Amino acid sequence: MFGKVLIANRGEIALRVIRACRDLGIKTVAIYSEADTKCLHVRYADEAYLIGSPPPSESYLNIGRIVETASKAGVDAIHPGYGFLSENSDFAEACEKNGIVFVGSKSTTLGLAGNKVECRNRMKQAGVPVVPGGEGIIDDEHEALALAEEIGWPVLLKSAFGGGGRGIRIVKSEAELKEAFAAAHREAMSAFGKFGVYVEKFIESPRHIEFQILSDGNGKVIHLGERECSIQRRFQKLVEMSPSPVVNASIREKVGALAAKAAKAVSYLNAGTVEFIVDRTMNFYFIEMNSRLQVEHPITELVTGLDLVKLQFQIAAGEGFSLEQEDIHLKGCAIECRINAEDPFNNFLPSAGVVSRYHPPSGPGVRIDTALYTGYEVPMYYDSLVAKLIAYGGSFDEARRRMKNALREYVIDGVATTIPIHQFIMEDPDFRSGNISTDFLQRRLPTPEKLKDKQIIDSGIEEIAASIAAVYLIGRERKSAKTTTVAKSTSVNNWRNSNGYATRWSQRWRFAEDF
Ligand code: ADP
Repeated sequence: MFGKVLIANRGEIALRVIRACRDLGIKTVAIYSEADTKCLHVRYADEAYLIGSPPPSESYLNIGRIVETASKAGVDAIHPGYGFLSENSDFAEACEKNGIVFVGSKSTTLGLAGNKVECRNRMKQAGVPVVPGGEGIIDDEHEALALAEEIGWPVLLKSAFGGGGRGIRIVKSEAELKEAFAAAHREAMSAFGKFGVYVEKFIESPRHIEFQILSDGNGKVIHLGERECSIQRRFQKLVEMSPSPVVNASIREKVGALAAKAAKAVSYLNAGTVEFIVDRTMNFYFIEMNSRLQVEHPITELVTGLDLVKLQFQIAAGEGFSLEQEDIHLKGCAIECRINAEDPFNNFLPSAGVVSRYHPPSGPGVRIDTALYTGYEVPMYYDSLVAKLIAYGGSFDEARRRMKNALREYVIDGVATTIPIHQFIMEDPDFRSGNISTDFLQRRLPTPEKLKDKQIIDSGIEEIAASIAAVYLIGRERKSAKTTTVAKSTSVNNWRNSNGYATRWSQRWRFAEDF
């Protein structure tokens, strides 16, 4: 096993990796930008190095600086986490050239998987079904038109590089094509600095189901079951669960074998994810290979009982893994809610600022992966994901209820978060019955005004509100203090009518403290 590892990332995923290192007795090296001097990963690692100014290009994406720091610190390996350089073949190659193990796949595989058109073609050759579409990057809208007429409208214009749902455009007819092509082009250039758009058939109201795989690089590939990631906003995942409500043992076996075949087709090494889009008649089509640890890996960990980051280190250190496919059984159900610092009442605008009060939920089956604490300042430079709330239960409904309770307890004051959306989703009848697809939020999400009205003030909380109000009224009568009365009764009203759940909690606390 490695003696010392550099973690080329920040936030919750850097902490997750540091914890796995500690379990394995590996020394850790953190890197950080000037915006992250007070981040927990800097404090928790054995060593930490400032690598540059806040913009990612100056720090977490600066390959030369990171490799130089790793060499100086004398590490054996670099764990890239997710995002940033995790799927960058140049970075993996720079590590390889400097005698540092990259915890992930080989640079050649990253290069192939990172080009979605090439990867699609490779999958087709290997007999893995792909969404009908073009075989190459298109040069202009005329080429897109010819392809769309061949495969049928609507189609998707997708960027061959990058991810995060950026550069994707739905095109319903010829009239929309020119504009959509220009927009996809623009977005791909600004997000990835590379232009490369291809055409795929748009599958209407599909599900997104992905398979976690493990490969030792010597021909042994197993899968760890699926994750249902159909609850999305603008092609980005918001809630994930494992297992999927529509995957039974025989589908799992069949599609899991396809995922393993996909991994072998690109000589995959280490932990990875094979993503499928699933149509209404349960046809699975490969869409892409994610050559890294996924944000949503904890749900797989909870239903399989495995530690994916430890397994990544074992594989990277050449120790392989002793697990066989027959050893993998999914037990219970796990749900993950991505808590983003975004304002759901204001078009999901990113919300930066100081977390003025932080109180995490707990209890049976509750896991939180986060780097938040009271006083932490959410910077504006990075991804808006600030916490992953994961609930585990013996059944979907137990996991869902635990999630509901945990969301109710979760206090993050000072920045807006997506917690209210998750509360809404956990109660939604379609979500509860498993009737979900990638357009679920489009179909079900109420307007911000309605969401405010719907704000979950469940009976339990209302009781607390009522009792606080009652105690207060008694107190008011005793004190006969007229001036404070006005302020306090306003406070009760605000609490009942306010927009954010977290805000309500802090108001409740303030109210209680005032009293
Ligand atoms: P990215 O790498 O940007 O995340 P993906 O190819 O993984 O892009 O797709 C992201 C999301 O876009 C999917 O989860 C799904 O919701 C939607 N999507 C992708 N391809 C299709 C398709 N052919 N038909 C319908 N939806 C799709």
